[in-house]
Amino acid sequence: MLQVDHLEKTYTDNLVLKDIDFTVNTGEVISIIGSSGSGKSTLLRCLNLLEEPTNGDIRYHGESILAPKFNRNHYRSQVGMVFQQFNLFKNMNALENCVIGQKKILGRSQEEAEKIALANLEKVGMAPYREAKPHQLSGGQQQRVAIARALSMEPELLLFDEPTSALDPEMVGEVLETMTQLAKEGLTMIVVTHEMEFARDVSTRVCFMDQGVIVEDGPSQDVIGNPQHQRTKTFLSRYL
Ligand code: ATP
Ligand code: MG
Repeated sequence: MLQVDHLEKTYTDNLVLKDIDFTVNTGEVISIIGSSGSGKSTLLRCLNLLEEPTNGDIRYHGESILAPKFNRNHYRSQVGMVFQQFNLFKNMNALENCVIGQKKILGRSQEEAEKIALANLEKVGMAPYREAKPHQLSGGQQQRVAIARALSMEPELLLFDEPTSALDPEMVGEVLETMTQLAKEGLTMIVVTHEMEFARDVSTRVCFMDQGVIVEDGPSQDVIGNPQHQRTKTFLSRYL
């Protein structure tokens, strides 16, 4: 579905992503792990075009997303993103947060968008809170609304950048449960995470990044249970 070839990203003279090759196939649930500053967020942000790659190419169903005529807004609805800090619209309630993108980007009617939004709020257990504004919700609830909002665009691929890192510990479980359910339903996902149990047990594949390169990429049980590279071993030993 998505093919990344020789991707590089430089900030001024800091080479943050070095020659990344990476393929995403339909149905995969990929966890990206690695220490702070290794380039995990930058990779996700390049995939979603929140950052402009410096070199290399990203193809979506064979078509370069960097081509001048490529429809980026539509692409971003098909490759959605869930952020650490939720990024909900503060002046809108949960339902409105899930409706607006569908109307603006996909051109859906209010009625159709509300129907889809409600179904997705239902799916993440947030339908009873549809009238609530973000400040009336806990962090875990806000993140579940953010997931419902992304799902309402009916994405083909959903990117998560440390979706549980900003949450109080007692709220991590409800968000991981929602993500586990989505994975079981076959949604294609890439998740930057420090939750090693999720990486091992829920994802099909794990990529370990270090200093701007993908050091190790393989089936999750192998990478977590039997890492091949010393840098992966050292990183994982901090979680045991
Ligand atoms: P963390 O686990 O802390 O979120 P990360 O693996 O997501 O780390 P990135 O945020 O991708 O790492 O950052 C990779 C490198 O790029 C870091 O050295 C960071 O300082 C640098 N960097 C990230 N964003 C920018 C930016 N907008 N301008 C300049 N440098 C940046
Ligand atoms: Mg990051």
